[in-house]
Amino acid sequence: MKQNLHTHTVYCDGRDTPAEMAEEAIRLGFDSLGFSGHGRLSIDQAAMTPEAQEAYIKDVLKLQQRMQDRLKIYLGLEQDVRGRCPEKKPFAYIIGSVHFLEADGVILPLDHSPEIFLRILNELYHGDPAALAKAYYAEVRQMADWDEVDIIGHLDLITKFKERIPGLSFDDSVSIQAALSCIDVLAPCKLFEVNTGAIARGYRHDPYPSEKLLRYMHERHARLVLSSDCHDRRYLDCFFPEALEMIQRCGFRSLYVLGDNGFEEHDISEFD
Ligand SMILES: [Zn+2]
Ligand SMILES: [Zn+2]
Repeated sequence: MKQNLHTHTVYCDGRDTPAEMAEEAIRLGFDSLGFSGHGRLSIDQAAMTPEAQEAYIKDVLKLQQRMQDRLKIYLGLEQDVRGRCPEKKPFAYIIGSVHFLEADGVILPLDHSPEIFLRILNELYHGDPAALAKAYYAEVRQMADWDEVDIIGHLDLITKFKERIPGLSFDDSVSIQAALSCIDVLAPCKLFEVNTGAIARGYRHDPYPSEKLLRYMHERHARLVLSSDCHDRRYLDCFFPEALEMIQRCGFRSLYVLGDNGFEEHDISEFD
């Protein structure tokens, strides 16, 4: 069993075409592959333009037909909370993510660079990580009420640069509580991803979410998918074996994959 639902192509900020990604997926032994282009959002330079999104949909649906005997392909979308999709159709699934924070009329991307992250922390939240964490998780948790969202993307994205910014920590009780109560609200209604994307890009050595959050997610009966937030086909299954080990270490015995009838639970021993 091998699936990755979080992948980006040349239609947004990825390096490869959908066809190139699909060929690599077959070579790596994937059963299925989902594309999750950044849904249109004017403030986001990584997002698809309306024209690119139309072309993306057409291209992926065509590829789905062409590849049907070799690889199951799903058309998905990564939707930022600031660019809500009016309709789920034609997407088979939607990953909901928070990539920006806004305060005092200034809006900045969380995951662009350590320098911009520090501006968010210092200029928008007066150097207080707990205030930043509270604002971030408040944005994430609102997706509990959004029916179109299936999977919560990179739950603790605010930790992306923890290895690049000395002293940055969200281990204070306010930040932890914000994360845990977000999990409480989302676990009954959404899937979460274990996302290895920042490892492939050299930012960190472990996936989102942290082991601490994953253990709590297990207590709350959260449902997980495994993804690599892939922007380069060379890293389509980056860190998957290690992530599977981590998931089991945190108590999970199953993972979810998208099938023809929605998300299905599979024993973790079926994955490789
Ligand atoms: Zn994202
Ligand atoms: Zn992504």
